[in-house]
Amino acid sequence: MTFRNSPKGVMTTAIHAGESPDPATGASAPPLHMSSTFVTDQVSGFSAHDLEDNGAFLYARWGNPTVQMLEQKIAALEGTQDCLCVASGMAAASAIFLTFLSAGDHAIVSDVSYAGVAELARDTLPRFGIAVDTVNFSDPAAVAAAIRPNTRLIHAETPVNPIGRLTDLAAISKIARDANAILSCDATFASPLGQNCTALGVDLILHSATKYLGGHGDAVGGAVAGRKELISQMRGEASIHHGGIMSPFNAWLISRGMSTLPLRMKAHETGAMAVAQWLETQSSVTQVIYPGLPSHPQHALAQAQMTNTSGMVSFQVGNAQQGEAMAQVMIERLETIHYAVSLGHHRSLIFWMGTDALMDTSFRLTGAQLDDYRAYAGDGIFRLSVGLEDADDLIADLAKVL
Ligand code: PLP
Repeated sequence: MTFRNSPKGVMTTAIHAGESPDPATGASAPPLHMSSTFVTDQVSGFSAHDLEDNGAFLYARWGNPTVQMLEQKIAALEGTQDCLCVASGMAAASAIFLTFLSAGDHAIVSDVSYAGVAELARDTLPRFGIAVDTVNFSDPAAVAAAIRPNTRLIHAETPVNPIGRLTDLAAISKIARDANAILSCDATFASPLGQNCTALGVDLILHSATKYLGGHGDAVGGAVAGRKELISQMRGEASIHHGGIMSPFNAWLISRGMSTLPLRMKAHETGAMAVAQWLETQSSVTQVIYPGLPSHPQHALAQAQMTNTSGMVSFQVGNAQQGEAMAQVMIERLETIHYAVSLGHHRSLIFWMGTDALMDTSFRLTGAQLDDYRAYAGDGIFRLSVGLEDADDLIADLAKVL
């Protein structure tokens, strides 16, 4: 049995890819190399421009064996030639944007995305002379219509944070190829198990490793997986020059977390489905968005594209006042589910996001794009990251407040 470009099955790949017993000690668990520099036996140049692919380790900002172990594990699970790990998911997004875009270029970015990415695209990139159009990626025709002669990058996110809307990656990748643009996709919500981005034509797959990859809410990190030639460019630019590298300790923690990723994703999916189905029966819940539910507006696409519908459930409770009041009750009364940002952890997390506030700070949508957002989120949305606890306990916790 093989998984993507790994010669082994998915569980074996998640455990063993990138790892081998320590040759010095025979330790079965991978060593943690907390070293910023490496003794060298060769006289070489002092600039990163002198670095060779697969050369010896010299300095941790250029490469570290523990971080490399994680990069190989992620590349094996994504079925890509290479991967770059950096300090956070935002560092990974910055690495993509600032490596492949220059003054005079144009980028098309999903009009809904993780808020930090939305702000980076709308506020920071134009300061460097990069034009950005934000488009509803659930409509491939809208993406095609936004293409310009200088479009260099198309950035998708699916399922999208916080509303769980989907992008048809095969359709968008055809548009990107025709336009000679790079297609990047933030697959944090899906994890590498949720969809085969490589087979669907994505060039650069972004993960906030803080979420499902690490999976235990302790380490912050980011990753971009893709073809060697693209990842090498990013390593030279983002790691070596911008400098936002991943700490070896975080790489070690995230790698350990990833050993159980396939098992965890199955459990997240099962738990989320049970909670989402229960939420649909509650009279106080106005709408539930979960790609695994037949009621999801793009359920057919979810069935065609997704191999695991993940643990992210979004739901609405009435209008803005009712949602905000419910969030306050949750802060006071939930016990098992933590009222906190972030997602993809073994602990369940919930957070309310008011639509007006998100529009002011991050998305700034108007007209049809705002109408579409409201169709998913109304005045505000609860984003529930279903963890690995027993679904009955999560339901009992929610039943106390809903
Ligand atoms: N992308 C998505 C979809 C996210 O949810 C997040 C964080 O929540 C990020 C990127 C940013 O990741 P990080 O917090 O690791 O910088």
